[in-house]
Amino acid sequence: MTGLYIHIPFCLAKCPYCDFYSVRYGRSLAEEYKRAVIRNLGYYRQERFDTVYFGGGTPILLWKEICEILGNIPFADNAEITLEANPGVTFRENLKELKSAGVNRISLGIQSLNDDELKALGRRHNGEAAIKSIETAYSCGFDNISADLMLSTPLQTKESLSRTVSELCKLPVAHISAYMLKIEENTPYAQRELPLPDEDVTCDMYLNTVKQLDGLGYKQYEISSFAKEGFICRHNMKYWNCEEYVGIGPAAHSYYNGERFFVNRDIDGFIRSERQEAVKEDTEGAAFGGFEEYAMLRLRLAEGLNLKEYKRRGGNAKTLLKEAEKIPKGCFNFNGESISLTPSGFLVSNAIIAKLLGY
Ligand code: SF4
Repeated sequence: MTGLYIHIPFCLAKCPYCDFYSVRYGRSLAEEYKRAVIRNLGYYRQERFDTVYFGGGTPILLWKEICEILGNIPFADNAEITLEANPGVTFRENLKELKSAGVNRISLGIQSLNDDELKALGRRHNGEAAIKSIETAYSCGFDNISADLMLSTPLQTKESLSRTVSELCKLPVAHISAYMLKIEENTPYAQRELPLPDEDVTCDMYLNTVKQLDGLGYKQYEISSFAKEGFICRHNMKYWNCEEYVGIGPAAHSYYNGERFFVNRDIDGFIRSERQEAVKEDTEGAAFGGFEEYAMLRLRLAEGLNLKEYKRRGGNAKTLLKEAEKIPKGCFNFNGESISLTPSGFLVSNAIIAKLLGY
């Protein structure tokens, strides 16, 4: 079945490191946006989506609109329906309504439980609000709660990160996404001198977190994703398994009917048009749908790349194995059928993938 991603590009304020597409929240703009999303959904009445993901932005700001949008989504009975939310705007009232409307997975932008680190990230919440948001979501009946964590952020140390991980794992969190801070061009962070951990400390932070989470029952299944048994994110797995999904909203991407599209980062254009203008991506060559894309996506997963499937998609398994011999031993595993990266390999995954593909 197909997945559905709906981008909700509204935030209360812009965080200084963020380059996701979002605009300042406004009630009337949110209302117009909702209507445009519902209009676009009309083109997919024949679908039965088995995963739905409201990403942003801060989707929970539009919780009333999202309840209405959900009434227009043809989703399957057992669909995984995720909504991204931030502490500080996540309350019993909106969570209960969202749950009744069908949302069954909440992804919270926790980032850290350390107040100084949160302040340096420009986040509007503190550690206490973060903990409260998780407890509230759980008490409203959400047992599938994911928390986003950021690694290698200003003021963060190996010890403070480890404390955050250990506190977080005492809470009813089923899934953790641990991302390394990336300084994106054209963000306020790119213009500042930041008290960031150095490269060695950053590597340690990642490897220590993988180990700590593993010890606490969160298995790594992708470079940045960790889950308790039964709580792997089904929607994100569609991306990494090269399965199809529809994306609605500015900045959303789609892979649908064998073709890839994206929508320009332009909320006014999206609201004005009868149907969103989907720009076709250049999918010529092996980079899309072929063995290269398969390798790039599958090597993000702990499960790794299956050689038979790689061959079926036109790749040369012998050459790949030959290239693998040149990679340091601790960076990958080969079990006779599949190649997968170890946590040390994930740290340098781009370089390894380029080498395996002979770039
Ligand atoms: S709340 Fe999230 S999407 Fe919004 S600006 Fe901050 S990091 Fe970006």
